[in-house]
Amino acid sequence: MKTDYHIHTIVSDAIIIPDEIFPVAAELGISEISITDHDAVGAYFHFHDDLFARARHFGLQLITGVELDSEFDGVEIHILGYHFDLSHGELTAYLHHVQDLRRQRVTDQIHQINEHFGYEIIRAAKVFAPHRDTVMSPHLVHALLDSGHFTEYRPAARWIKDHIHPAVTVPKPACAEMIRLIRAAGGTAVLAHPGYYIKEHRLSLDRLLTELIPAGLSGLEVEYRYRGTSPEFPTLADEEVMIRYLRDEARRHGLWTTSGSDAHRLVELRTFHTSPATSSPSKRNQ
Ligand SMILES: [Zn+2]
Ligand SMILES: [Zn+2]
Repeated sequence: MKTDYHIHTIVSDAIIIPDEIFPVAAELGISEISITDHDAVGAYFHFHDDLFARARHFGLQLITGVELDSEFDGVEIHILGYHFDLSHGELTAYLHHVQDLRRQRVTDQIHQINEHFGYEIIRAAKVFAPHRDTVMSPHLVHALLDSGHFTEYRPAARWIKDHIHPAVTVPKPACAEMIRLIRAAGGTAVLAHPGYYIKEHRLSLDRLLTELIPAGLSGLEVEYRYRGTSPEFPTLADEEVMIRYLRDEARRHGLWTTSGSDAHRLVELRTFHTSPATSSPSKRNQ
């Protein structure tokens, strides 16, 4: 069964909407899908009265999903949540609180960036797009890239970090706390793109799992767009070594393994599921 448990929409830092995702996913032969926006579940409410029925119309089984920001040893960690109650009180209150803080922070950041350049290099209306619940730093980075002042993502993101100091901070809860919240809402928690923390931040998977499994972690995202998202995986061979390692660790700890494109654009969805040079789960056969 072909699945994709990690897709973003305009509700957070992507530009696509479910009605664009569903037909492409169906065409790619995917049968089960989850939309996992950053700290938001608005995709399940904003576009259709019953998004699950809409997905079934395309032959897709849609499961509830979210990607929560958290922190472990000073590193930003993303926890994916699935199969939870979309209207759970504590989770809803948490998401609204974080979204509100992010709005305040980004408003201040846009103001400071525009002051710095002396003109409206970033238009607030573009960042605060309709249906967007989570405004976040990639929106600012893309606006700077569009302006032509920067040509690459990472230097632009670095510039914002070094030069812009918003008054509002958005606290990152501990990983274990976000796992607890997902479980409280009846869901299952999965560690997103673990290869990123291991390679880029030199975080020990052992240390992570020692703390997160007792906290209720149920799975590892083993298949994702390694080379599209990190320079630490320059070749397919690098990616395959990591996948084997994660699979072995998942088996050793009795964890579920998942596959997700982490697509922010349709082309990324297509690439993940069709390109021979990418981690297409159908080609690996476990
Ligand atoms: Zn992520
Ligand atoms: Zn993601």
